[in-house]
Amino acid sequence: MLKSLLIANRGEIACRIIRTARAMKIRTVAVYSDADSNALHVRQADEAVHIGPSPARESYLVGDRIIAAAKETGAEAIHPGYGFLSENADFAQAVIDAGLIWVGPRPDSIRAMGLKDAAKQRMIAAGVPVTPGYLGEDQSPERLSREAEATGYPVLIKAVAGGGGKGMRRVDRAEDFADALASCQREAASSFGDDRVLIEKYILSPRHIEVQVFGDAHGNVVHLFERDCSLQRRHQKVIEEAPAPGMDEATREAICAAAVRAAKAVDYVGAGTIEFIADASDGLRADRIWFMEMNTRLQVEHPVTEEITGVDLVEWQLRVASGEPLPKAQDELAINGWAIEARLYAEDPAKGFLPSPGRIDHLALDHRIRVETGVEEADAVSPFYDPMIAKLVAHADTRDVARTKLMHALDQSYVAPLRTNAGFLFECLDCSEFALGQVDTGLIERAGEALLPAAELSQAVLDAAARRYRRDWLDWAGLDLNEQHRRAGLFGFRLNAAAKDTIDLHGRGGKGVGSTMGFDKPFGIASTMTSEGEILVTDRGVTYTFDQRPTTGGAAGAIGDGAILAPMPGRITAVEVAAGERVATGQKLVTLEAMKMEHGLTAPFDGIVAELDVEPGAQVSEGRMLVRVEKAE
Ligand code: ADP
Repeated sequence: MLKSLLIANRGEIACRIIRTARAMKIRTVAVYSDADSNALHVRQADEAVHIGPSPARESYLVGDRIIAAAKETGAEAIHPGYGFLSENADFAQAVIDAGLIWVGPRPDSIRAMGLKDAAKQRMIAAGVPVTPGYLGEDQSPERLSREAEATGYPVLIKAVAGGGGKGMRRVDRAEDFADALASCQREAASSFGDDRVLIEKYILSPRHIEVQVFGDAHGNVVHLFERDCSLQRRHQKVIEEAPAPGMDEATREAICAAAVRAAKAVDYVGAGTIEFIADASDGLRADRIWFMEMNTRLQVEHPVTEEITGVDLVEWQLRVASGEPLPKAQDELAINGWAIEARLYAEDPAKGFLPSPGRIDHLALDHRIRVETGVEEADAVSPFYDPMIAKLVAHADTRDVARTKLMHALDQSYVAPLRTNAGFLFECLDCSEFALGQVDTGLIERAGEALLPAAELSQAVLDAAARRYRRDWLDWAGLDLNEQHRRAGLFGFRLNAAAKDTIDLHGRGGKGVGSTMGFDKPFGIASTMTSEGEILVTDRGVTYTFDQRPTTGGAAGAIGDGAILAPMPGRITAVEVAAGERVATGQKLVTLEAMKMEHGLTAPFDGIVAELDVEPGAQVSEGRMLVRVEKAE
């Protein structure tokens, strides 16, 4: 068995690999860029090596530096994780040439599956069904358009070197073909340096079904059943599960056997995934499932497979890389229950899912389910990399219980002040199609706004939060609406007064593309007060922040020393006193305008203005000392 391992990755997958390596008593070496100098994977590893500046091109993608780091630290092997260099055959070869162990398939297997057309040719030879279409050398527009015609519209033009959902164009009508081809070729040339394309039949009601395979260096290959990753946004996976809803035994057997044939066709060693596309217009049927591509690495969504099989896939990778045979034979593997994974991202659904990087001041994830993360509270989501915060993975005996657990977890977690997609994930899990297992890759696009989380917290939830914090937030109900707005003080948040009478907290009626299925249990309101006195309330996955810090100098903290601090960032609009002036309790000292509201800051006790450190018009940051009052003798 290996004694030491360098992980050529960052974030949650680096932490995930470190966890298993540690359990196997393998020494771990992390690598990191400038931005990651204090990242969780660096803190968790036994050793860490700096490999360059923040941009991945200058650090995590520089193979030579990573190999040098392994040499320097005496690491025996390199695990690439996913993304970055994981499917780079030249890097895999360089690792091997440097006398190190590559935790992954042979470089030739990576190459064989690297180009979509060559991979499909091999699969056809191995008897694996592939999507109907054209894979030829002749790339002339005339030939390609004739082949599109012969395949039958709609078709998908795909860059042979494509990946990550890039370099694909759906074409519905012959007259649109030429333009779509030209734009696909341009994108392919600029993104992959290769403008060749292939044509595929565009599958209507497509479902993304993939099979986890595993090979060892002794010629054994097993499968670990299928995953369903059909819930996608712009060809990116959002929620994944295992097994696939609606999969019968015969169909499962057929596609898993095809996946094993595919892996054997390229002498596959290690963890890999065979991705299939299914035409689900009439349920899942073996003769309507086709090979799409092979990912020659560990997948982001591998935990759902681990949950239903009880196998630690990283452990298997490390054993296989050490030369051991697969720990289990096919007939020792079985499906136990159901697992669903949601990818929690720092991104803002209200702004077209734009990344929302920054410091995570508050982070509480529900650890009653499996959480894979690369950050802790007070860490940052870096703008340089994928803005994933965590993967939340629920496992249960049945799909519906796993789904409900995951929704519950989203509803019991807080992330602030970053915007996240948690509310969107919640709505996806709650929508009736997902609840019924009727998901195809177009669901999110068709649903559109219906899956976007509410912009406003319901009055009922707000009232409940106010009730919970009654001692701090006295007689909320008695306040007029303006005062409620003022206290809500939420960034960009408005009270949803109209909903006041219609939302029943315990009914928590659903919205969106269908009714709520199963999620009708009153979970209570997840709310917490931070040390700064903000109240965080999570509802349907969305964390709302209320600033209820005292707006007068009469705050408990101020009474002792008489220092009046800015309770929030804002602008000083008036200074009512002068240094040395005698003031009485409650007398207004300065006025701060913040969030379009004026806050009068008053003297906490009778005394003298000992310090005055602001003038009208000054912009002040939160916590800045403005005035200090000293007790009069
Ligand atoms: P990439 O390598 O860029 O990820 P894939 O070939 O894996 O591209 O396809 C990505 C996604 O595009 C699939 O998960 C599926 O949603 C969609 N897709 C791919 N091929 C087809 C097809 N023939 N018909 C319909 N949708 C497809």
